[in-house]
Amino acid sequence: MNKQLRPRVLISGCLTGLKVRYDGSHKESRWIIDELTKNFDIVPVCPEMLAGMPAPRPTIDLHIDNLLDLNSIEAFNRVNHSINPTKAIIAVADKFSFSNEPVHGFVGVSRSPSCAKQSAKVYLNNSLLRSNGAGLFVSSMTRNLPNLPVIEDEQLQYPEQLDLFIASVIRYFGTN
Ligand code: SF4
Repeated sequence: MNKQLRPRVLISGCLTGLKVRYDGSHKESRWIIDELTKNFDIVPVCPEMLAGMPAPRPTIDLHIDNLLDLNSIEAFNRVNHSINPTKAIIAVADKFSFSNEPVHGFVGVSRSPSCAKQSAKVYLNNSLLRSNGAGLFVSSMTRNLPNLPVIEDEQLQYPEQLDLFIASVIRYFGTN
């Protein structure tokens, strides 16, 4: 039996108004917060800040080494390629995935190299390979928890996607 009374959904911290973006701004979306809190307890999370990065900060880019191995995707500081926060971001995802307080969903930000579900840019040999990748935090979370419901802010603007996400989280909560 679930100890929690309501599903616990992580949400990108910048969507809740925290000034954690690369440029020191936020991306607050009041209506998303209002919709989610009708059904869920929400937990703001900024994987990049939790991985030790400051705000503001240079953006990170995702690079893949081996096309046959999606796990070879790594994140590099755009300005200084010797800075590689990959392990730190994966460690943040592991911490939430295996916490005593279970997670039942994640709401991320479109195109974020950490928090996007399916719209992050991925580079190969410094050329754009694809624009529909998962952010590093999301890919790590879903590797740990394959059925975890995940959605991006821009998808939530479609009522049917919002309803589908809410139903998926409730179903996941009931079985985990
Ligand atoms: S890492 Fe995620 S939560 Fe943090 S600023 Fe980027 S999109 Fe927002």
